[in-house]
Amino acid sequence: MNISTHSEENRQRENIVAKSRSLYDRGLTAGSSGNVSVRLDDGWLLTPTNACLGDLDPARLAKMDWEGKLLSGDPPSKEAFLHRSMYEERGMAGAIVHLHSTYSAAVSCIGGLDAESCIPPLTAYFVMKIGKLPLIPYYRPGDPLLGQAIRSLATKHSALLLSNHGPVVSGSTLEAAVYASEELEETAKLFLLLRNTPTNCLNSDQIAELKSVFKLEF
Ligand code: ZN
Repeated sequence: MNISTHSEENRQRENIVAKSRSLYDRGLTAGSSGNVSVRLDDGWLLTPTNACLGDLDPARLAKMDWEGKLLSGDPPSKEAFLHRSMYEERGMAGAIVHLHSTYSAAVSCIGGLDAESCIPPLTAYFVMKIGKLPLIPYYRPGDPLLGQAIRSLATKHSALLLSNHGPVVSGSTLEAAVYASEELEETAKLFLLLRNTPTNCLNSDQIAELKSVFKLEF
């Protein structure tokens, strides 16, 4: 490892610790739930199993290769395969945030949602940061079929909602993935506040305009 690679990795380690603490401090994830990862030149970093996002040690983050082998640090989150499945399909993804955040998790339990787009286009920022949000069926924790389900949708979607569980959100950088996760959580809150209220969503022309002006792909 040369010096610049080493300093970039250390910067990413500090960044994961700071962003994770911020998510925890603002109640976006609780206990030891949620996990955060970043792609490196020579593998990837993931928060450890049973770690609290509010109290991470940069030196103990799990560093893995792309076969899933632990190179250094504590054992990775048991949800490592969610991240790997998403990275494998999204070559441009530099970071992934997976939370059990309250409002998104609540939406993930509602029956009868549109599985192709489970939160409607309520705001332009939701469309710009998330686009269409598919709902993945329920799988028990650790079920490898969940990895397959993620792979089948991750090529086209930067964010997915796991039924009765929570969101998985990728971004080009950790900042982008965190901001998109927050946009998703806030929009899930709006969606729940507006249940049973006549609501104007963005129409297809307004969405087409956003896709054209902001070069969105979904
Ligand atoms: Zn989870």
